[in-house]
Amino acid sequence: AYVVAEPCADVLDLACVEECPVDCIYQGERMMYIQPEECVDCGACEVVCPVEAIYFEDDVPEKWSVYTAANAAFFTEI
Ligand code: SF4
Repeated sequence: AYVVAEPCADVLDLACVEECPVDCIYQGERMMYIQPEECVDCGACEVVCPVEAIYFEDDVPEKWSVYTAANAAFFTEI
């Protein structure tokens, strides 16, 4: 699955939401989150993000690695 990382925080551009073919990008309080079980790994969101916040799970920069779990956790907590 793809993961939304720190650059999204307080930006919430929402360009990704329009691109996602399966509507699996959800809005949290400060950033967007991708539901990992719904994501079909198409990559459409990654290229339209104006702040380069979205990465394939294996390509998330080390400094933002916590966001992989954070995206999954967002959906288990609601
Ligand atoms: Fe949606 Fe595709 Fe992005 Fe996954 S990779 S969140 S399916 S646009």
